[in-house]
Amino acid sequence: MKGPCRVVVVGGGVTGLMLATLLAKSPQSAALEITVLDAASRPVFSADDEVALRVSAISTGTAALFDSVGAWEYTAATRVSPYSSMRVWDESDTPDSSGALQFGADEFAIEQLGFIVENVLLQDVLLYQLDRTDAVLKFDSPLRALRRKARCYDVELQSGETLTADLIVGADGARSFVRSAAGIEAREWPYEQTAFVTHLRPEKPHEATAWQRFLRDGPLGILPLNDGRVSVVWSTTPARAQEALAASDDELGASLGDASDYVLGRLDVAGPRGAFPLCARHATQYVLPNLALIGDAAHAIHPLAGQGANLGLQDAAELAARITEALEEGLHPGDRPVLRRYERARKGANATMLHFMTGLNSLFATDSKLVGELRSVGMRAFNRSGPIRERAVKVALGVG
Ligand SMILES: Cc1cc2nc3c(=O)[nH]c(=O)nc-3n(C[C@H](O)[C@H](O)[C@H](O)COP(=O)(O)OP(=O)(O)OC[C@H]3O[C@@H](n4cnc5c(N)ncnc54)[C@H](O)[C@@H]3O)c2cc1C
Repeated sequence: MKGPCRVVVVGGGVTGLMLATLLAKSPQSAALEITVLDAASRPVFSADDEVALRVSAISTGTAALFDSVGAWEYTAATRVSPYSSMRVWDESDTPDSSGALQFGADEFAIEQLGFIVENVLLQDVLLYQLDRTDAVLKFDSPLRALRRKARCYDVELQSGETLTADLIVGADGARSFVRSAAGIEAREWPYEQTAFVTHLRPEKPHEATAWQRFLRDGPLGILPLNDGRVSVVWSTTPARAQEALAASDDELGASLGDASDYVLGRLDVAGPRGAFPLCARHATQYVLPNLALIGDAAHAIHPLAGQGANLGLQDAAELAARITEALEEGLHPGDRPVLRRYERARKGANATMLHFMTGLNSLFATDSKLVGELRSVGMRAFNRSGPIRERAVKVALGVG
Protein backbone atom coordinates (compact mmCIF):
# COMPACT_ATOMS: atom_id res chain seq x y z
CA MET A 1 0.00 0.00 0.00
CA LYS A 2 1.41 3.40 -1.01
CA GLY A 3 1.00 6.20 1.55
CA PRO A 4 -0.93 6.01 4.81
CA CYS A 5 -4.08 3.90 5.10
CA ARG A 6 -7.08 6.26 5.06
CA VAL A 7 -9.53 5.10 7.74
CA VAL A 8 -12.93 6.83 7.82
CA VAL A 9 -14.98 6.08 10.96
CA VAL A 10 -18.65 6.95 10.45
CA GLY A 11 -20.21 7.65 13.86
CA GLY A 12 -18.81 9.53 16.84
CA GLY A 13 -20.65 7.54 19.50
CA VAL A 14 -18.58 5.76 22.14
CA THR A 15 -17.57 2.87 19.88
CA GLY A 16 -16.48 4.98 16.89
CA LEU A 17 -14.53 7.38 19.11
CA MET A 18 -12.86 4.52 20.99
CA LEU A 19 -11.73 2.90 17.73
CA ALA A 20 -10.34 6.22 16.45
CA THR A 21 -8.53 6.89 19.75
CA LEU A 22 -6.97 3.41 19.90
CA LEU A 23 -5.75 3.76 16.30
CA ALA A 24 -4.51 7.33 16.74
CA LYS A 25 -2.51 6.25 19.81
CA SER A 26 -1.25 2.94 18.39
CA PRO A 27 2.43 2.35 17.54
CA GLN A 28 1.33 2.25 13.87
CA SER A 29 -0.47 5.60 13.94
CA ALA A 30 1.99 7.18 11.47
CA ALA A 31 0.78 4.67 8.87
CA LEU A 32 -2.84 5.78 9.32
CA GLU A 33 -4.88 8.83 8.32
CA ILE A 34 -7.95 8.83 10.54
CA THR A 35 -11.18 10.79 10.03
CA VAL A 36 -14.29 10.56 12.22
CA LEU A 37 -17.62 11.78 10.82
CA ASP A 38 -20.80 12.36 12.73
CA ALA A 39 -24.18 13.67 11.61
CA ALA A 40 -24.77 15.33 15.01
CA SER A 41 -23.02 18.27 16.65
CA ARG A 42 -19.96 17.69 18.81
CA PRO A 43 -21.11 16.42 22.23
CA VAL A 44 -19.95 18.57 25.12
CA PHE A 45 -19.90 17.48 28.76
CA SER A 46 -19.93 19.97 31.61
CA ALA A 47 -19.96 18.94 35.26
CA ASP A 48 -22.30 21.94 35.81
CA ASP A 49 -24.93 20.36 33.57
CA GLU A 50 -27.72 18.16 34.91
CA VAL A 51 -26.88 14.40 34.73
CA ALA A 52 -27.73 13.37 31.15
CA LEU A 53 -30.58 10.96 30.48
CA ARG A 54 -28.41 8.44 28.64
CA VAL A 55 -26.24 6.60 31.15
CA SER A 56 -24.60 3.19 30.77
CA ALA A 57 -23.43 0.55 33.18
CA ILE A 58 -19.90 -0.17 32.06
CA SER A 59 -17.84 -3.11 33.19
CA THR A 60 -14.47 -2.92 34.93
CA GLY A 61 -13.01 -4.40 31.71
CA THR A 62 -14.40 -1.42 29.76
CA ALA A 63 -13.02 1.00 32.37
CA ALA A 64 -9.59 -0.62 31.84
CA LEU A 65 -9.93 0.00 28.10
CA PHE A 66 -10.55 3.71 28.76
CA ASP A 67 -7.55 3.67 31.09
CA SER A 68 -5.38 2.20 28.32
CA VAL A 69 -5.93 5.36 26.22
CA GLY A 70 -5.45 7.71 29.20
CA ALA A 71 -9.17 8.51 29.43
CA TRP A 72 -10.22 6.91 32.70
CA GLU A 73 -8.58 8.99 35.41
CA TYR A 74 -10.51 12.12 34.41
CA THR A 75 -13.74 10.16 33.92
CA ALA A 76 -13.50 8.57 37.36
CA ALA A 77 -12.74 11.92 38.98
CA THR A 78 -15.62 13.67 37.24
CA ARG A 79 -19.06 12.07 37.54
CA VAL A 80 -19.05 8.32 37.79
CA SER A 81 -20.97 6.07 40.12
CA PRO A 82 -19.21 2.82 41.03
CA TYR A 83 -21.55 0.02 42.02
CA SER A 84 -20.45 -2.79 44.24
CA SER A 85 -23.39 -5.14 44.25
CA MET A 86 -26.24 -6.32 42.11
CA ARG A 87 -29.64 -7.76 42.95
CA VAL A 88 -31.90 -9.44 40.41
CA TRP A 89 -35.30 -10.80 41.33
CA ASP A 90 -38.58 -11.92 39.82
CA GLU A 91 -41.93 -10.16 40.19
CA SER A 92 -43.26 -13.11 42.21
CA ASP A 93 -40.31 -12.98 44.63
CA THR A 94 -38.62 -10.47 46.94
CA PRO A 95 -35.09 -9.05 46.52
CA ASP A 96 -33.82 -10.77 49.68
CA SER A 97 -35.36 -14.22 49.03
CA SER A 98 -33.19 -17.23 48.18
CA GLY A 99 -34.57 -17.04 44.62
CA ALA A 100 -33.04 -13.60 44.05
CA LEU A 101 -29.59 -13.37 42.45
CA GLN A 102 -27.07 -11.36 44.44
CA PHE A 103 -23.50 -10.52 43.55
CA GLY A 104 -21.01 -8.45 45.51
CA ALA A 105 -17.64 -7.09 44.41
CA ASP A 106 -16.11 -8.48 47.61
CA GLU A 107 -16.77 -12.10 46.59
CA PHE A 108 -14.60 -11.54 43.49
CA ALA A 109 -11.98 -9.59 45.45
CA ILE A 110 -12.52 -6.48 43.30
CA GLU A 111 -13.37 -2.95 44.36
CA GLN A 112 -16.56 -2.64 42.32
CA LEU A 113 -18.62 -4.58 39.79
CA GLY A 114 -18.73 -1.68 37.35
CA PHE A 115 -19.59 2.00 36.91
CA ILE A 116 -22.62 4.00 35.91
CA VAL A 117 -21.48 6.79 33.62
CA GLU A 118 -23.08 9.25 31.22
CA ASN A 119 -22.50 8.40 27.54
CA VAL A 120 -21.72 12.08 26.87
CA LEU A 121 -18.90 12.00 29.43
CA LEU A 122 -17.38 8.93 27.75
CA GLN A 123 -17.57 10.71 24.38
CA ASP A 124 -16.09 13.88 25.87
CA VAL A 125 -13.03 12.16 27.38
CA LEU A 126 -12.31 10.34 24.11
CA LEU A 127 -12.66 13.57 22.13
CA TYR A 128 -10.21 15.25 24.54
CA GLN A 129 -7.69 12.50 23.70
CA LEU A 130 -8.40 12.66 19.95
CA ASP A 131 -7.92 16.45 19.90
CA ARG A 132 -4.31 15.74 20.88
CA THR A 133 -3.68 13.48 17.87
CA ASP A 134 -3.65 13.96 14.09
CA ALA A 135 -7.15 12.49 13.70
CA VAL A 136 -9.61 14.73 11.83
CA LEU A 137 -13.04 15.17 13.46
CA LYS A 138 -16.01 16.28 11.38
CA PHE A 139 -19.26 16.87 13.26
CA ASP A 140 -22.52 18.10 11.67
CA SER A 141 -21.44 15.96 8.72
CA PRO A 142 -24.08 13.41 7.73
CA LEU A 143 -23.12 10.84 5.15
CA ARG A 144 -24.99 11.02 1.82
CA ALA A 145 -23.61 8.14 -0.24
CA LEU A 146 -21.01 5.39 -0.33
CA ARG A 147 -19.47 4.27 -3.61
CA ARG A 148 -17.36 1.15 -3.92
CA LYS A 149 -14.15 1.67 -5.93
CA ALA A 150 -11.20 -0.65 -6.59
CA ARG A 151 -9.83 -1.38 -3.05
CA CYS A 152 -11.46 1.70 -1.49
CA TYR A 153 -14.73 3.61 -0.96
CA ASP A 154 -15.75 7.10 -1.93
CA VAL A 155 -17.57 8.61 1.03
CA GLU A 156 -19.85 11.47 0.05
CA LEU A 157 -21.06 13.91 2.72
CA GLN A 158 -24.29 15.95 2.63
CA SER A 159 -22.09 19.02 2.19
CA GLY A 160 -20.94 17.65 -1.17
CA GLU A 161 -17.39 16.91 0.10
CA THR A 162 -16.08 13.47 -0.88
CA LEU A 163 -13.46 11.51 1.10
CA THR A 164 -11.66 8.36 0.04
CA ALA A 165 -11.48 5.50 2.54
CA ASP A 166 -9.11 2.55 2.22
CA LEU A 167 -11.10 1.28 5.19
CA ILE A 168 -14.54 2.58 6.13
CA VAL A 169 -15.90 1.65 9.56
CA GLY A 170 -19.63 1.83 10.21
CA ALA A 171 -20.01 2.87 13.86
CA ASP A 172 -23.22 4.70 13.05
CA GLY A 173 -25.59 2.97 15.42
CA ALA A 174 -28.55 0.63 15.16
CA ARG A 175 -29.98 2.16 11.96
CA SER A 176 -26.55 2.17 10.30
CA PHE A 177 -26.44 3.95 6.95
CA VAL A 178 -23.09 2.29 6.20
CA ARG A 179 -24.57 -1.17 6.78
CA SER A 180 -27.52 -0.61 4.44
CA ALA A 181 -25.53 1.31 1.79
CA ALA A 182 -23.07 -1.61 1.67
CA GLY A 183 -25.99 -4.03 1.20
CA ILE A 184 -25.38 -5.94 4.45
CA GLU A 185 -28.56 -7.53 5.78
CA ALA A 186 -29.47 -7.47 9.47
CA ARG A 187 -31.67 -10.07 11.16
CA GLU A 188 -34.21 -8.53 13.51
CA TRP A 189 -36.12 -9.84 16.53
CA PRO A 190 -38.56 -7.13 17.69
CA TYR A 191 -39.16 -7.26 21.46
CA GLU A 192 -42.48 -5.38 21.38
CA GLN A 193 -41.06 -3.43 24.30
CA THR A 194 -40.00 0.18 24.72
CA ALA A 195 -37.36 1.26 27.24
CA PHE A 196 -38.63 4.20 29.29
CA VAL A 197 -35.79 6.10 30.99
CA THR A 198 -35.71 8.73 33.72
CA HIS A 199 -33.91 9.72 36.95
CA LEU A 200 -35.56 9.51 40.38
CA ARG A 201 -34.79 10.39 43.95
CA PRO A 202 -35.38 7.32 46.14
CA GLU A 203 -36.58 7.54 49.72
CA LYS A 204 -33.93 5.00 50.87
CA PRO A 205 -30.21 5.01 49.94
CA HIS A 206 -29.43 3.03 46.78
CA GLU A 207 -26.49 1.33 48.53
CA ALA A 208 -24.31 1.52 45.38
CA THR A 209 -26.36 -1.40 44.10
CA ALA A 210 -27.72 -2.07 40.61
CA TRP A 211 -31.24 -3.44 41.03
CA GLN A 212 -33.23 -5.38 38.46
CA ARG A 213 -36.79 -6.63 38.85
CA PHE A 214 -38.23 -8.89 36.17
CA LEU A 215 -41.86 -8.02 35.47
CA ARG A 216 -44.28 -9.68 33.03
CA ASP A 217 -44.01 -6.74 30.58
CA GLY A 218 -40.21 -6.58 30.79
CA PRO A 219 -37.41 -5.84 33.27
CA LEU A 220 -37.05 -2.71 35.41
CA GLY A 221 -33.41 -1.73 35.96
CA ILE A 222 -32.49 0.75 38.72
CA LEU A 223 -28.96 2.12 38.51
CA PRO A 224 -27.26 4.19 41.26
CA LEU A 225 -26.11 7.74 40.42
CA ASN A 226 -23.35 9.43 42.40
CA ASP A 227 -25.63 12.19 43.75
CA GLY A 228 -27.92 9.67 45.49
CA ARG A 229 -30.48 9.58 42.70
CA VAL A 230 -31.14 6.50 40.56
CA SER A 231 -31.55 6.12 36.81
CA VAL A 232 -34.29 3.72 35.74
CA VAL A 233 -34.57 1.77 32.53
CA TRP A 234 -38.08 0.36 32.43
CA SER A 235 -38.59 -2.03 29.51
CA THR A 236 -42.33 -2.25 29.12
CA THR A 237 -45.13 -2.28 26.55
CA PRO A 238 -45.02 0.62 24.08
CA ALA A 239 -48.42 1.78 25.45
CA ARG A 240 -47.16 1.87 29.04
CA ALA A 241 -44.04 3.72 28.00
CA GLN A 242 -46.23 6.35 26.28
CA GLU A 243 -48.33 6.66 29.45
CA ALA A 244 -45.15 7.12 31.49
CA LEU A 245 -44.00 9.91 29.16
CA ALA A 246 -47.35 11.70 29.55
CA ALA A 247 -47.94 11.05 33.30
CA SER A 248 -47.62 13.73 35.98
CA ASP A 249 -44.57 13.46 38.26
CA ASP A 250 -46.74 12.05 41.07
CA GLU A 251 -48.40 9.44 38.84
CA LEU A 252 -45.06 8.38 37.39
CA GLY A 253 -43.37 8.16 40.79
CA ALA A 254 -46.24 5.98 42.03
CA SER A 255 -46.19 3.58 39.05
CA LEU A 256 -42.40 3.20 39.22
CA GLY A 257 -42.68 2.71 42.99
CA ASP A 258 -45.13 -0.14 42.31
CA ALA A 259 -42.97 -1.58 39.54
CA SER A 260 -39.93 -1.59 41.86
CA ASP A 261 -41.96 -3.14 44.70
CA TYR A 262 -40.78 -0.12 46.74
CA VAL A 263 -37.36 -1.73 47.18
CA LEU A 264 -35.96 1.80 47.67
CA GLY A 265 -39.13 3.19 49.24
CA ARG A 266 -40.98 6.05 47.56
CA LEU A 267 -39.54 7.28 44.25
CA ASP A 268 -39.74 10.97 43.31
CA VAL A 269 -39.26 11.91 39.68
CA ALA A 270 -36.12 14.05 39.43
CA GLY A 271 -34.98 14.21 35.84
CA PRO A 272 -35.94 14.33 32.17
CA ARG A 273 -37.75 11.41 30.46
CA GLY A 274 -37.13 9.47 27.28
CA ALA A 275 -38.28 6.33 25.49
CA PHE A 276 -36.38 4.00 23.16
CA PRO A 277 -38.19 1.27 21.15
CA LEU A 278 -36.30 -2.02 21.58
CA CYS A 279 -35.33 -4.50 18.89
CA ALA A 280 -32.57 -7.10 18.75
CA ARG A 281 -30.66 -6.83 15.50
CA HIS A 282 -27.61 -8.66 14.18
CA ALA A 283 -25.77 -7.96 10.94
CA THR A 284 -25.29 -11.12 8.85
CA GLN A 285 -21.75 -9.96 8.05
CA TYR A 286 -19.49 -7.58 9.97
CA VAL A 287 -17.00 -7.10 7.15
CA LEU A 288 -16.61 -6.71 3.39
CA PRO A 289 -13.38 -5.79 1.62
CA ASN A 290 -12.42 -2.30 2.87
CA LEU A 291 -15.42 -2.10 5.23
CA ALA A 292 -16.21 -3.14 8.80
CA LEU A 293 -19.12 -2.64 11.20
CA ILE A 294 -18.74 -2.16 14.96
CA GLY A 295 -21.04 -1.45 17.92
CA ASP A 296 -24.78 -1.08 17.46
CA ALA A 297 -24.29 -0.95 13.68
CA ALA A 298 -23.31 -4.63 13.91
CA HIS A 299 -25.52 -5.72 16.83
CA ALA A 300 -28.23 -4.21 19.00
CA ILE A 301 -29.25 -6.09 22.13
CA HIS A 302 -31.74 -5.76 24.96
CA PRO A 303 -30.51 -3.27 27.59
CA LEU A 304 -31.51 -5.60 30.45
CA ALA A 305 -27.95 -6.58 31.35
CA GLY A 306 -26.39 -3.29 30.24
CA GLN A 307 -24.05 -4.90 27.73
CA GLY A 308 -24.59 -2.98 24.45
CA ALA A 309 -21.88 -0.35 24.84
CA ASN A 310 -19.55 -2.85 26.53
CA LEU A 311 -19.78 -5.18 23.52
CA GLY A 312 -19.33 -2.32 21.05
CA LEU A 313 -16.21 -1.17 22.88
CA GLN A 314 -14.82 -4.70 22.74
CA ASP A 315 -15.43 -4.65 18.97
CA ALA A 316 -13.48 -1.38 18.76
CA ALA A 317 -10.56 -2.85 20.75
CA GLU A 318 -10.48 -6.01 18.62
CA LEU A 319 -10.65 -4.16 15.29
CA ALA A 320 -7.93 -1.70 16.38
CA ALA A 321 -5.70 -4.64 17.38
CA ARG A 322 -6.23 -6.41 14.03
CA ILE A 323 -5.54 -3.21 12.03
CA THR A 324 -2.33 -2.57 14.00
CA GLU A 325 -1.26 -6.20 13.60
CA ALA A 326 -1.87 -6.04 9.81
CA LEU A 327 0.28 -2.93 9.48
CA GLU A 328 3.06 -4.61 11.47
CA GLU A 329 2.87 -7.59 9.10
CA GLY A 330 2.94 -5.34 6.01
CA LEU A 331 -0.66 -6.20 5.12
CA HIS A 332 -3.40 -3.84 3.94
CA PRO A 333 -5.84 -3.29 6.88
CA GLY A 334 -8.77 -3.18 4.44
CA ASP A 335 -8.11 -6.65 3.00
CA ARG A 336 -10.89 -9.10 3.73
CA PRO A 337 -8.67 -11.77 5.38
CA VAL A 338 -7.45 -9.12 7.86
CA LEU A 339 -11.00 -7.93 8.60
CA ARG A 340 -12.20 -11.53 8.88
CA ARG A 341 -9.85 -11.97 11.87
CA TYR A 342 -11.89 -9.24 13.59
CA GLU A 343 -15.22 -10.74 12.53
CA ARG A 344 -14.23 -14.21 13.71
CA ALA A 345 -13.23 -12.88 17.13
CA ARG A 346 -16.39 -10.84 17.75
CA LYS A 347 -19.43 -12.14 15.84
CA GLY A 348 -19.87 -15.38 17.78
CA ALA A 349 -19.35 -13.69 21.15
CA ASN A 350 -21.88 -10.97 20.31
CA ALA A 351 -24.41 -13.52 18.98
CA THR A 352 -24.16 -15.51 22.22
CA MET A 353 -24.88 -12.43 24.34
CA LEU A 354 -27.67 -11.25 22.01
CA HIS A 355 -29.52 -14.58 22.09
CA PHE A 356 -28.92 -15.02 25.82
CA MET A 357 -30.50 -11.60 26.52
CA THR A 358 -33.42 -12.30 24.16
CA GLY A 359 -33.99 -15.69 25.82
CA LEU A 360 -33.74 -14.25 29.33
CA ASN A 361 -36.22 -11.50 28.48
CA SER A 362 -38.73 -14.05 27.09
CA LEU A 363 -38.20 -16.43 30.01
CA PHE A 364 -39.34 -13.76 32.45
CA ALA A 365 -42.03 -12.20 30.23
CA THR A 366 -44.39 -15.16 30.47
CA ASP A 367 -47.58 -15.86 32.36
CA SER A 368 -47.03 -19.63 32.35
CA LYS A 369 -47.08 -21.00 35.92
CA LEU A 370 -44.86 -23.94 34.97
CA VAL A 371 -42.25 -21.67 33.36
CA GLY A 372 -42.47 -19.43 36.44
CA GLU A 373 -41.73 -22.36 38.75
CA LEU A 374 -38.86 -23.64 36.57
CA ARG A 375 -37.44 -20.11 36.51
CA SER A 376 -37.53 -19.89 40.27
CA VAL A 377 -35.86 -23.31 40.66
CA GLY A 378 -33.29 -22.28 38.03
CA MET A 379 -32.41 -19.06 39.86
CA ARG A 380 -31.93 -20.90 43.15
CA ALA A 381 -29.78 -23.56 41.43
CA PHE A 382 -27.73 -20.84 39.69
CA ASN A 383 -27.15 -19.12 43.03
CA ARG A 384 -25.68 -22.36 44.40
CA SER A 385 -23.76 -23.34 41.26
CA GLY A 386 -20.29 -22.08 42.36
CA PRO A 387 -18.00 -22.15 39.31
CA ILE A 388 -20.81 -21.62 36.72
CA ARG A 389 -22.09 -18.63 38.65
CA GLU A 390 -18.58 -17.23 39.02
CA ARG A 391 -17.86 -17.69 35.30
CA ALA A 392 -21.15 -16.02 34.25
CA VAL A 393 -20.57 -13.05 36.54
CA LYS A 394 -16.98 -12.61 35.31
CA VAL A 395 -18.18 -12.52 31.68
CA ALA A 396 -20.75 -9.85 32.62
CA LEU A 397 -18.03 -7.85 34.39
CA GLY A 398 -15.77 -8.00 31.35
CA VAL A 399 -13.00 -9.66 33.36
CA GLY A 400 -13.70 -13.29 32.34
C1 LIG B 1 -32.41 2.52 27.28
C2 LIG B 1 -31.03 1.98 26.99
C3 LIG B 1 -30.17 1.70 28.05
C4 LIG B 1 -28.89 1.20 27.81
N1 LIG B 1 -28.06 0.90 28.85
C5 LIG B 1 -26.84 0.38 28.61
C6 LIG B 1 -25.96 0.02 29.68
O1 LIG B 1 -26.30 0.17 30.86
N2 LIG B 1 -24.73 -0.49 29.39
C7 LIG B 1 -24.33 -0.67 28.09
O2 LIG B 1 -23.19 -1.15 27.87
N3 LIG B 1 -25.13 -0.35 27.05
C8 LIG B 1 -26.37 0.17 27.28
N4 LIG B 1 -27.19 0.49 26.25
C9 LIG B 1 -26.71 0.30 24.87
C10 LIG B 1 -25.77 1.41 24.46
O3 LIG B 1 -26.36 2.68 24.70
C11 LIG B 1 -25.43 1.27 22.99
O4 LIG B 1 -25.06 -0.06 22.71
C12 LIG B 1 -24.25 2.17 22.60
O5 LIG B 1 -24.50 3.51 22.94
C13 LIG B 1 -23.98 2.06 21.11
O6 LIG B 1 -22.91 2.90 20.79
P1 LIG B 1 -22.52 3.12 19.26
O7 LIG B 1 -21.36 4.07 19.31
O8 LIG B 1 -22.32 1.81 18.59
O9 LIG B 1 -23.79 3.79 18.59
P2 LIG B 1 -24.52 5.17 18.90
O10 LIG B 1 -24.33 5.59 20.30
O11 LIG B 1 -25.91 5.01 18.40
O12 LIG B 1 -23.72 6.23 18.01
C14 LIG B 1 -23.88 6.28 16.60
C15 LIG B 1 -23.39 7.64 16.11
O13 LIG B 1 -23.46 7.64 14.67
C16 LIG B 1 -23.97 8.88 14.22
N5 LIG B 1 -24.64 8.67 12.92
C17 LIG B 1 -25.75 7.96 12.67
N6 LIG B 1 -26.04 7.99 11.35
C18 LIG B 1 -25.08 8.74 10.75
C19 LIG B 1 -24.83 9.15 9.40
N7 LIG B 1 -25.63 8.78 8.38
N8 LIG B 1 -23.75 9.94 9.15
C20 LIG B 1 -22.92 10.30 10.17
N9 LIG B 1 -23.11 9.94 11.46
C21 LIG B 1 -24.17 9.18 11.75
C22 LIG B 1 -24.94 9.33 15.31
O14 LIG B 1 -25.11 10.73 15.32
C23 LIG B 1 -24.25 8.81 16.59
O15 LIG B 1 -23.41 9.79 17.17
C24 LIG B 1 -28.47 0.98 26.46
C25 LIG B 1 -29.34 1.28 25.39
C26 LIG B 1 -30.61 1.76 25.66
C27 LIG B 1 -31.55 2.05 24.50
